[in-house]
Amino acid sequence: MITMVPKAELHCHLEGAASPDLVRKLAARHAVTLPAETFDADGNFAWDDFLHFLKVYDIASSVIRTPEDYRDVTYQYLMDCAAEGAIYVEVMSSPDHAAAVGMSYTDHLEGIAAGIEDARSESGIEGRIIVTCVRHLGPERGVEVARQVVANPHKLVTGFGMGGDENAFEPRDFAPAFGIVHATGLPCTVHAGEVAGAQSVRAALEALPVQRLGHGVRAMEDPELVRELADRGIVLEVCPGSNIATGVYGSYSDHPLLELRAAGCRITLNSDDPPYFDTTIGREYDRASAVFGFDDASLREVTLTAIEAAFVDEETRENLRQKVVA
Ligand SMILES: [Zn+2]
Repeated sequence: MITMVPKAELHCHLEGAASPDLVRKLAARHAVTLPAETFDADGNFAWDDFLHFLKVYDIASSVIRTPEDYRDVTYQYLMDCAAEGAIYVEVMSSPDHAAAVGMSYTDHLEGIAAGIEDARSESGIEGRIIVTCVRHLGPERGVEVARQVVANPHKLVTGFGMGGDENAFEPRDFAPAFGIVHATGLPCTVHAGEVAGAQSVRAALEALPVQRLGHGVRAMEDPELVRELADRGIVLEVCPGSNIATGVYGSYSDHPLLELRAAGCRITLNSDDPPYFDTTIGREYDRASAVFGFDDASLREVTLTAIEAAFVDEETRENLRQKVVA
């Protein structure tokens, strides 16, 4: 049973949102035989540690090859979210993945945009795109992605961000990339405080023009930093199921979601790479209720925080807000 409280999601990687069934369908579409190790006996993605996860993720993502594939991944993901009561989802696109399979920035974007439009006309769900660069590919590649964002404005591209290996390079190395996009008025977010500790969050906040943090949970290791996050109203894109699946925390009782919230930090709930972490946005809300004790009013508050922090125009934001408070 998924709670039918209206939900909003700010942190989901599109390539990581493709279900095993869709990945098998896309593999067939391109006459690709995936290695047997990609799936377990039940047909789910199979991985046993973080490095293996990255490998399986890359194998599965490699079948997303055309604008139509991107449209299908986006459409199916948003329709699944809508079926669980989500009214708004931001998906992170990765032009570097598209480039790796020979697709142009604009082609991959048009595919994603078509998926968003089709899902909206069928279900009413709103979607936006955060274009991301990949930290371990380096600052120069980041600048290239940023230039593409600025050179090809798109009404559904409403933010910029960065994922990838938090231990590669320093946030300040990416200040030029973020600066290029931020100068045009697009808001930014960045992964920090997931794999690396509180210092990574501090370094990101000092160097980059961000108003949200992907994860950010390990800020908890530095009480002064937690106060700063609360004072500045930085919104945390918290992904509890992902954090447990990847071993950032050993168990939900070790997860700092409640402490961060009690300290005044602005919290949202997100699925990150849902089929890999055996989660969905609906299950994240359910778990917040079952494990963290959120009642429906608290879950609505989480959704309202996500809508306040959404990278979206004010008219859409108000429409979304009305769906939560109504
Ligand atoms: Zn992420």
